[in-house]
Amino acid sequence: MKILVTGGAGFIGSHLCEFLLNNNHNVICVDNLITGRKENINKMLRRSEFEFVKHDVIKPIILNDKIDWVFHLASLASPVDFEKYPIEILKVGSIGILNILESSKKNNARFLLASTSEVYGDPKIYPQDEGYWGNVNPIGVRSVYNESKRFAEALTMAYHRKYNLDTRIVRIFNTFGPKMRLDDGRVVPNFIDQALNNKPITVYGDGSQTRSFCYVSDEIEGIVKLMKSNYHLPINIGNTKEITILDFAKKIKKMLNSKSEITFHPLPKDDPKKRRPDIAKAKEILDWKPKISLEEGLEKTINYFKNLK
Ligand code: NAD
Ligand code: UDP
Repeated sequence: MKILVTGGAGFIGSHLCEFLLNNNHNVICVDNLITGRKENINKMLRRSEFEFVKHDVIKPIILNDKIDWVFHLASLASPVDFEKYPIEILKVGSIGILNILESSKKNNARFLLASTSEVYGDPKIYPQDEGYWGNVNPIGVRSVYNESKRFAEALTMAYHRKYNLDTRIVRIFNTFGPKMRLDDGRVVPNFIDQALNNKPITVYGDGSQTRSFCYVSDEIEGIVKLMKSNYHLPINIGNTKEITILDFAKKIKKMLNSKSEITFHPLPKDDPKKRRPDIAKAKEILDWKPKISLEEGLEKTINYFKNLK
């Protein structure tokens, strides 16, 4: 098949491109490199089945080939970017997805949206299942991301209902692994970098907030299984093993035998207090569940960051 991956030079996107190439597909990777990097796709560039197009999806894209599947991942994704690039996030989450849905419709291609657990906001139910409508501050600093992903889900469903477009929506929960940017501001690269260099580990708030971390190969497997299924409603893909951020800091410090001091800093506004996916639907419909433990995933990720030095 010929497959378009937007955001394909980013962290998850580059793993997805590699997985698809290794499964004998032709891949067109579209990315404007705002947070994505050529290093993530350098090896693939040598392969004739892989094409990279530097393009900002907020401009319409003209596709010369017939496309079978579209994975739409293009978006800024790190909370540190929410204040730095608010307009870019809203544009890619609205005009960007509109352009890619239009291209998918013209190609009669199957379309998958990379959505997020952030559609649940600071959730009031626990764990979060797909039926929950969320608790989102519509005007807060995180809203540029949360609301644009909620809009993107609404637009995807509108194309599905009005044009019968074959669509999928994956709600990705915190995912980590090699190829994350060291300076991307998210907790995994921050803590590993700090612990590796014996710098203070920066816990925001008192560290009692929780997250559930999914290793990237598990996430990719879930996303591809969803694309192959015939299920068009949103589905959570994430790991259910939950940990407080303070325990996460201690774990990384211990794994690296680091001398770093754990320090406490103000909690970002609207930072979700508890996050854990309910993955009953993924288990039942996709026969998917994560396989890689947090420790195993962290070891692989730490090795990646060590080898960057
Ligand atoms: P990333 O920043 O590494 O990748 C995003 C990619 O999109 C980058 O390569 C960036 O350059 C590209 N991009 C951004 N705006 C663009 C535009 N206007 N035109 C073309 N390309 C553009 O982040 P990631 O963690 O790999 O996230 C990938 C997708 O998964 C995103 O849609 C994100 O919202 C979603 N997601 C990720 C997580 C996670 O934990 N990593 C969690 C939930 C959802
Ligand atoms: N966090 C932290 N220290 C950091 C970076 C993040 O304590 O240096 C916290 C952040 O406040 C949040 C959690 O770690 O509670 C996960 O943050 P991340 O930015 O990775 O993703 P989020 O789940 O918030 O989108």
